[in-house]
Amino acid sequence: MTDKVVVITGGSRGIGRATALAAAARGYRVVVGYATNQAAANEVVAAIEAKNGKAIAVKCDVGSEQDILALFKAADGFGTLGALVNNAGIVGKSGVRVDEMSAERIQQMMAVNVTGSILCAREAVKRMSTKHGGQGGVIVNLSSVAAKLGAPNTYVDYAASKGAIDSFTVGLGYEVAAEGIRVAGIRPGLIDTDIHAAGGEPDRAHRLAHMVPMKRVGTADEIANAIVWLISDEASYVTSAILDVSGGR
Ligand code: NAP
Repeated sequence: MTDKVVVITGGSRGIGRATALAAAARGYRVVVGYATNQAAANEVVAAIEAKNGKAIAVKCDVGSEQDILALFKAADGFGTLGALVNNAGIVGKSGVRVDEMSAERIQQMMAVNVTGSILCAREAVKRMSTKHGGQGGVIVNLSSVAAKLGAPNTYVDYAASKGAIDSFTVGLGYEVAAEGIRVAGIRPGLIDTDIHAAGGEPDRAHRLAHMVPMKRVGTADEIANAIVWLISDEASYVTSAILDVSGGR
């Protein structure tokens, strides 16, 4: 158990929500970031408080540096930062080839999935690094098996953004390894969340389940369990590492 703060971007729904609940059950004080869905974020906070946990909801579109600074300022007021889960992520419309993609789509993808994660990590390192007087901590970045598969004819821009996240996880991990900070990545496979509807294909995960070696989709809880292990002391020798949680996909 720990009473440190964990900041979870996109903590209002899906994998972020499941991670918020799992982290609170282990004693973390949870900062639930959300982009627009305040009702969903408030529901997560209420669910945590109903079990005597501590949580606050903070609006933070990770495409905005101002929002990110405000998120970490709110976290500072809530306790000592122990972990960041860079979970917020988007997909564009599924089934769009690269030769049909607009510059706006690609820029939005990179701004949210890549720049947003790097800026959040910057703020976390400033607070957690022993070089800056901090007590150390853990950063977990959400990648995707798409980083390995490339997602051709689906959303190559998304896959590329997650490839960048994998490089970022490895590089940042090395950079801060001697400063008390561990950095790890998770590559989820097909997980049953709203993200597929956001890409215009609500049944995508179930439609492709037969391609998964385990022949089923994964749940948000199955990803959350891996995340809370990575941020715990049980993973104390894990850094610059990326874990596939994908049923073998
Ligand atoms: P989801 O169900 O669509 O939920 C997305 C969450 O991110 C929501 O809490 C949403 O907030 C938030 N969000 C969206 N845009 C944001 C922005 N610009 N700034 C801040 N927060 C934002 O997604 P998910 O499936 O749980 O995915 C979570 C992470 O896992 C993502 O990085 C995704 O790429 C990765 N992943 C998912 C799968 C999968 O199959 N589900 C597979 C591989 C990787 P609001 O509630 O306010 O909208």
